[in-house]
Amino acid sequence: MNHNQSRREFLAASSAAVIAGSLGVIPSKAAGADAAKLAIQGGPKAVKAAPKSVRRWGDLELERLKAMVEQDTLFYWKGPQTELALERFKKIYPFKYAHTCTSGTAALHIAVNAAGIGPGDEVITSPITDIGTVIGVIYQMGVPVFADLGACTYNLDPADVERRITKKTKAIIAVHLCGNPCDMDALRAIADKHKLVLIEDACQAWGAQYRGKPIGTVGHIACWSLQQTKHITTGDGGIVASNDERFGPLLQKCGDKGSDRLGGGGGFRQFATNYRMNEPSAAVFAAQLERLEGVASKRATLGNLLTEKIKDIPGIMPHQVHPKDRCVYWFYFMRFNTKAFRCNRADLVKALAAEGVQCSAGYIKVPLHREPVFQDHGFFAGRWPVREMGLTKMDFTKHHTPEVEAILQNGIRFTIHEGMTEEYILGAAEAVRKVAKHYAA
Ligand SMILES: *Cc1c(COP(=O)(O)O)cnc(C)c1O
Repeated sequence: MNHNQSRREFLAASSAAVIAGSLGVIPSKAAGADAAKLAIQGGPKAVKAAPKSVRRWGDLELERLKAMVEQDTLFYWKGPQTELALERFKKIYPFKYAHTCTSGTAALHIAVNAAGIGPGDEVITSPITDIGTVIGVIYQMGVPVFADLGACTYNLDPADVERRITKKTKAIIAVHLCGNPCDMDALRAIADKHKLVLIEDACQAWGAQYRGKPIGTVGHIACWSLQQTKHITTGDGGIVASNDERFGPLLQKCGDKGSDRLGGGGGFRQFATNYRMNEPSAAVFAAQLERLEGVASKRATLGNLLTEKIKDIPGIMPHQVHPKDRCVYWFYFMRFNTKAFRCNRADLVKALAAEGVQCSAGYIKVPLHREPVFQDHGFFAGRWPVREMGLTKMDFTKHHTPEVEAILQNGIRFTIHEGMTEEYILGAAEAVRKVAKHYAA
């Protein structure tokens, strides 16, 4: 039992007794017991006020869109909004090359195309991610290889990445899940040792920092999404960036049908599809970049506070973030020790939700390789040419990542957003404490 908790309960019970006494009511022990009674059983909610939702766009975006309407072009190349967005992006992220595009999936496809991923090339990545992480790999005829993850970082386990390297491995895609930076020093060392391209999927990590540096700057190429649910958004959109002279100059071509708009001449040398972002999206992107630091720092503060308040609760495993990194909590992911509780995950989530906590069970339902399209190897009209051609023996039905399976079975996802207050987080933490205590085995 936690001492702070018992002291708080004692104070709550005694002040209730004082009030009850002054009203001439016989003080009862029930007042103290009441605070501990779960909301799901009729007790008081731990979260006193539901968090307010926030408007994520407004005057800043309107100002950019007005300027855009005055222009004589809505096309990205030399488009004023695109140029402004890139300028603002590069102020935050010190990249020489950056290219706007239509989605995070597009950014990742551009990255693997620029990295030279081709038929049979293996790309090691995380199986707990958006499927957009690997769509480009598969379109390039590459082979995604899923590695296991750290138990509470939910990011690539460098040792398991290294175990899965073969002669065919060409790249690693490090997914900063939930906006929690991967162990980039370890992954970069592995990439350098085996001459692999290190790509950062920072789609959930806008505003995150690795050892004090902006996320995306340790690998060779980095990708972001601007889809509706991400920290900043254009509804749909993305950006890909690099400081590497081998890949940087290819980003524009790989996102724009292979066209070299700098006038290099020589026709089409790079084969690529059209992933161009237009000026209306770029206008909103430029405005959203002004909001980024506010969103990122607020979420970092709230998520870290939740960890601080639940880390001593028996059986609860908070989201693990390196103390020198800034996690921006796209959401907060907590695990629990199944043996420490008398109930299952659904019961815990139901009890927490009744307390007013915005949470849900797990994240994606199964690791990516257990999705039907992977189990069937049915990527192209039900077929997978690279396997038919003998360029890979990959069999996703035999792919195994044990920690990942466990994470998806006992992870609980907490919504974190910039409209939430510290009071809400304290209430949510209180709810975890209350529910954990009630169901303790
Ligand atoms: C959202 C997301 C993507 C894909 O981005 P879209 O813009 O939806 O295509 C890729 N990777 C991760 C980790 C994401 O969260």
